[in-house]
Amino acid sequence: MRKVTRYPGSIPHPYTGIRIPEILLTGILKSYKKHGVAGGFGLSFGRETAPEKVIKAPRGEYEITQGHTGTSIKKYLTMGSEAASEANASAEMEADHLIIVASSATAVKRIAGVYEESKISPEQLKKSIEYNKAEVDEAISTGVINAYTIDASDLFDLSVEKLTDKEIEDKFKKAFSENERKEMLSRCLDRKFSFYGTHNQHYEYSLDKSQIMRFSLKYIDSIRVTKQIYDYIKSKMKRPFGFEISLDETFEKTGEEELLFYLTEWKSIGGTLDFIAPNVGFKKRKDFRGNLDELEERVAKLAVIARSYGVLLSIHSGSGSSPYGGKGRGIYKALLKATEGKIKYKISGVYIELIFEILASYPAGSAERSLYEQIFDETYAYLLEQMEKGGKLASKLLREQLSRYKRAVEKNTRKPYDPRASFFRFNSYLALNFRDSKGRRYLRDKIVEFYQTNERFHEKVDREVEKLTSRLIGGLNFANNERFIKNSQVI
Ligand SMILES: [Zn+2]
Repeated sequence: MRKVTRYPGSIPHPYTGIRIPEILLTGILKSYKKHGVAGGFGLSFGRETAPEKVIKAPRGEYEITQGHTGTSIKKYLTMGSEAASEANASAEMEADHLIIVASSATAVKRIAGVYEESKISPEQLKKSIEYNKAEVDEAISTGVINAYTIDASDLFDLSVEKLTDKEIEDKFKKAFSENERKEMLSRCLDRKFSFYGTHNQHYEYSLDKSQIMRFSLKYIDSIRVTKQIYDYIKSKMKRPFGFEISLDETFEKTGEEELLFYLTEWKSIGGTLDFIAPNVGFKKRKDFRGNLDELEERVAKLAVIARSYGVLLSIHSGSGSSPYGGKGRGIYKALLKATEGKIKYKISGVYIELIFEILASYPAGSAERSLYEQIFDETYAYLLEQMEKGGKLASKLLREQLSRYKRAVEKNTRKPYDPRASFFRFNSYLALNFRDSKGRRYLRDKIVEFYQTNERFHEKVDREVEKLTSRLIGGLNFANNERFIKNSQVI
């Protein structure tokens, strides 16, 4: 009988992106097992993974950013769940970030902090929904998927933020029927929302008419499309599954009133929810450098609001400035205090940064270091070309990052090939999807081959991957979260 992991329920847990499952699973699972952790495995459906059809297509047929790990949905789900069941570990197999977006290049640019105001056309929307449904189909066909995260933040209508109250009122009237308007207002207007924190804090919120109209206009498209995907998943799954909504990929932080509004609306249209990811002020691949007390207070309020709807917070953009320092000093502690550890915490890209740093650490002239230099050179050349021809990845930020690296090397303030150079840290993932004339992902293949044939590299990767995972587990007190799982997890 094939072992299939059941959805463990919404328990606090770490989530790890298994971009190259061939080399990451051993170390991560060692750490999960050692600490009695039921953890998540996943990949982002909008960026990191894609259906087999896309992964196997000839070079150039799809954007390079689409499924950029070269790992298909079927592959990571099958490999992840098999490795977990072999290790006798409980794993939540997640379809992360099903993104409703016009182009996957737009989605990856958000990682570096470039937010394009993309107004997606009806045709693009339809195409994106179809693509996401096909991804869900492939995930379900493996029989092991048990959690989903939807990200429809591209559908937030940010233009409403600049409108006057009068303009908002007119727009609200045009956008909704009389009945809809009445219902939307009645759910939140003239209400006092009271929340109590675990240390007896009392938070009170009320929304005025103008806020409700503004939030309705801002969020309604994203809520409706998310519900559409949710209904699709529900109709196909026919067994319990976890559901998460991502609100975080925006320039601005998510306000408490906005979270409150969103959850109220989501509940009113009949969706269930296990996790929600507001923007708490984290930037991807950067340590958090803001005020820790403010962060703690902000997250505490968001967590209390979410929990009153039976929902836990999920923290996205969890990777910091290096593979060794979490999200920066004191951050895990602040999150623990704010949430009592009742969170999901996601990391993914940091594992690839770690692998590249390991390769870079070998002496000059070694096969490992040479592979690293090849990865670095080809990434650099590719990005320069993108800038020159105004490719999809071109942006002002990228131009700055590239010229900052060049200047620093010229001035001797940075060593050539520094794996911590920003342009490289933010874009090196592309190397896994560089293809040769036969369509092979020669760099990705080479890394896997090293792991399979070079014992010392293999051991070093396992050890460092385990340590990185354990730092996260230790930092956020996830150890022994298996105790929360009711019933046995195998069906
Ligand atoms: Zn996110």
